Amino acid sequence: MTAHNAKPMPAGTRFGRLVIIREAEALVDKKGGRRRAFTCKCDCGNETTLAGSTLRAGHSKSCGCLFTDTHRARMLKGHHKSIYASDPVSIDDELPD
Ligand SMILES: [Zn+2]
Repeated sequence: MTAHNAKPMPAGTRFGRLVIIREAEALVDKKGGRRRAFTCKCDCGNETTLAGSTLRAGHSKSCGCLFTDTHRARMLKGHHKSIYASDPVSIDDELPD
């Protein structure tokens, strides 16, 4: 169980809509720790930089376009409770993915 963070992430590795182009400058978190980051190209054409751990965990599968699609649906649901919900109270319980 060594080098857990050194798992190879070569260019061309695909995560959902994202494909790694190259390793980016390391990100520095709130505690001052450095995290490997990667510049990725999304199928929609955008480029984005994400932490390797985020990619590996499957938390990000697009530049944000995929999230925007699903999140917009959720936001609409929240803003128009009466359309979708027979019980408006349940909408306030937003579950993390
Ligand atoms: Zn995209």
